[in-house]
Amino acid sequence: MTTSPTISELAVPGVRSLVPYVPGKPIEELERELGISNIVKLASNENPLGTNPKVAAAIHATLPELIRYPDGNGFRLKTVLSEKLGISSQQITLGNGSNEILELVARTFLSPDLDVVFSQHAFAVYPIVTQAVGASAKIAPAINYGHDLAAMLALIDENTRLVFIANPNNPTGTFLGRNELENFLMALPASVICVLDEAYYEYVSPELRSDSISWLNQYPNLIITRTFSKAYGLAGLRIGYSLSSPEIANLLNRVRQPFNNNMLALTAAETALADHEYLEKTIAANDAGMQQLTAAFQALSLDWIPSAGNFVSVDLKQTSMPIYEALLRKGVIVRPVANYEMPTHLRISIGTEKENQTFIQALDEILNDV
Ligand SMILES: *Cc1c(COP(=O)(O)O)cnc(C)c1O
Repeated sequence: MTTSPTISELAVPGVRSLVPYVPGKPIEELERELGISNIVKLASNENPLGTNPKVAAAIHATLPELIRYPDGNGFRLKTVLSEKLGISSQQITLGNGSNEILELVARTFLSPDLDVVFSQHAFAVYPIVTQAVGASAKIAPAINYGHDLAAMLALIDENTRLVFIANPNNPTGTFLGRNELENFLMALPASVICVLDEAYYEYVSPELRSDSISWLNQYPNLIITRTFSKAYGLAGLRIGYSLSSPEIANLLNRVRQPFNNNMLALTAAETALADHEYLEKTIAANDAGMQQLTAAFQALSLDWIPSAGNFVSVDLKQTSMPIYEALLRKGVIVRPVANYEMPTHLRISIGTEKENQTFIQALDEILNDV
């Protein structure tokens, strides 16, 4: 008699050994656990300014339409994006967050005989989407926590179909300049798709930013991903997009669900794009908050990784988990990054001045055992 397999053994091999993504601890969860309120969450790189009132009004105006399916082609949002970015609508793919785009790319281009190159300390979703489709990850060692593009190139062989580069990278905040990136694209075989993940693009100062969109003409294997979750403050609605050659957009469009973006998210993104003031306030608050946090780290004699994003990873020079837990007990949620091979760091999202101050004071008390 043959024994029947366990349910787990029925899953495809990549999924059987997959370790799920660990999100930042939700505020409500900590409220339930500790029975306290006034919790400060600096754990998911969210926009601390609160919901944009113009977005709230646009959503309210859309509510009577909820009986309808959303526009499955996202015509209006794509039109606004294409005008703003100076590219054709045919080059835009909308996703349920840019995470969905990463998954669509993996499902479109990968199979179990192929591999994917990304960096040590790179965004946790890259290994997940790779493994879920049974492909193999090849991980290039980082230099000073940042991407070593030469080491990444050295890992590429005839089985490599995809590279992921986050710029700035999460959770390190490290940033690659335009020359480095352009040289990498030039050296990359045309048979390898390059995903350039620009989730934090808006936070990078204009002098430093790459005009990555201009590279699309030259590199039909390039996919740029961006999101409304971070600087535009729409993380709860799940909407992001990619820019690519029309050929790639056409392929991704075959794989995606017909209504992957909901109506409220489409309306909100369109409204948010038109509101320059909210974006400017967001960036000014982020710059000030970054100063505030790094000055405090300096005063505490702690090192941090210089960050181009809306978060900063600080080195506590000891296993950071007990400090993370002590912060939780004081009502402050930050992000442990041991799963990124950074066991002595914590990643802090930039909050409002008051939230940052609450965190700084709590950290000071814990480190100085007050
Ligand atoms: C936050 C983040 C994303 C975007 O996630 P969404 O699905 O758009 O909310 C993508 N890449 C990186 C590196 C991120 O940190």
